[in-house]
Amino acid sequence: MTDVLVIGAGAAGCMAAIKAAEAGASVILIEKNTRIGRKIMLTGKGRCNMTNAKPWSQFAAHLHSKPAFFKSAFYNFSNSATVDFFRSIGVETVVTRDDRVFPQTMSSATVVDALADRLAHLGVKTFFGCTVGEVARTPDGCFTTAFIENNHNFFHPKMVASKTVIVATGGLSYPTTGSDGAGYAIARSFGHTLQPTFPSLTALTPAGYDMRLQGATLINVAASLFVGQDMVQYEFGELQFTDGGIEGPIGFKLSRKAVWAMINGDKVSVAIDLKPAVPVDALADRIAKEAGQEKVTDANFSRCYGRFLRRFMPQAIVEPFYAGCRPSLSGLASALKSWRFQIAGYVGYKRAVVTAGGVSLDEIVSKTMSSRNVPGLYFAGEVLDMDGDTGGYNLQFAFSTGVLAAESAAKYAAEH
Ligand SMILES: Cc1cc2nc3c(=O)[nH]c(=O)nc-3n(C[C@H](O)[C@H](O)[C@H](O)COP(=O)(O)OP(=O)(O)OC[C@H]3O[C@@H](n4cnc5c(N)ncnc54)[C@H](O)[C@@H]3O)c2cc1C
Repeated sequence: MTDVLVIGAGAAGCMAAIKAAEAGASVILIEKNTRIGRKIMLTGKGRCNMTNAKPWSQFAAHLHSKPAFFKSAFYNFSNSATVDFFRSIGVETVVTRDDRVFPQTMSSATVVDALADRLAHLGVKTFFGCTVGEVARTPDGCFTTAFIENNHNFFHPKMVASKTVIVATGGLSYPTTGSDGAGYAIARSFGHTLQPTFPSLTALTPAGYDMRLQGATLINVAASLFVGQDMVQYEFGELQFTDGGIEGPIGFKLSRKAVWAMINGDKVSVAIDLKPAVPVDALADRIAKEAGQEKVTDANFSRCYGRFLRRFMPQAIVEPFYAGCRPSLSGLASALKSWRFQIAGYVGYKRAVVTAGGVSLDEIVSKTMSSRNVPGLYFAGEVLDMDGDTGGYNLQFAFSTGVLAAESAAKYAAEH
């Protein structure tokens, strides 16, 4: 009988399997893909923003649902422990803007290969191409896990017995990487409550989205999120227009609250301030002065706006901006300070960086990652009701909860 069975070879599952084996447990790792870390390969645009170097107090501010739940796991295996661990397996790191930590190679493959080597070195038994269906508890308090092995499209049902199980199956985002919510069904089968899931860090699609905006990047702009008439969030930085809509760092930051509001039937809009450093009156004065020099007036603005607007925005957005707001010259300052988009929808799980919601934290012991319902059952990573902003927070959550679940499971297995 195996001590620890880990389901899912993503960031949380790989780390869990490694740490359980390092703690002396016998370990089986089951993964439905043909290799580990398919999602890790995509992270940080292929560069893997593996953690963030901020101290706990600042780190916690980038987590959603209940940051305090994560404190024990973070202190047990912190961001600096992540850096030390990866150095110990041959991955040197660098810290970039906003305390983001990347492998020195700036390649996710370095991280995935190092994890794969470590798993092999420790003798972790891996089953690839195997999809777990059901986990059951036996009368003697152990577990049987049923899975289907896909061997060149020949499907074989299999079963393994273990003293403990760590569910590290991820959420629902980017299902092409393997995470399709299977862990939620396992959690439910053991009586766990699920907090409603929704895509976060995803593009917000404006109503009547002008596709000419696609590909434009705005730097040093601000965006405000409105739910109904109330402004609920303000962000400053970089915004991108993609095929899905408003994206990039600012769009992602706004998306969590925006998506949740839309799910609840609220009307959502985003107002972009193209000149956040200049108060509206000062901007109006500047516009009046430059319009005077250029002989631009309210009367001729509809004919010569193209040349004039280029002074205030990148060429790529001039036409969509004018078509969207139809500003008069005298109303231009207000339009530049508040370019309003009604949001009609969002791109969703297929391209959301993370899943918000998941297995309720109230039923998980934060000091061990064990289920309060079932002794020997553990959860780690995105399957839990916790999500972070962009910047390395999600991978650190996966790594730290994976380590804590592994150490706790190995201890439990040794005692039982
Ligand atoms: C495009 C993109 C970029 C990102 N960039 C960053 C970044 O730079 N920094 C950061 O911190 N976070 C980033 N994230 C978020 C981060 O990657 C995830 O939060 C994190 O990888 C979650 O790890 P996990 O192990 O919990 O889940 P996953 O990585 O989703 O792993 C779950 C694994 O379980 C397997 N599995 C699922 N069901 C079964 C089953 N029934 N049987 C067997 N196996 C199963 C899946 O195939 C998968 O391999 C990014 C996410 C995306 C999509």
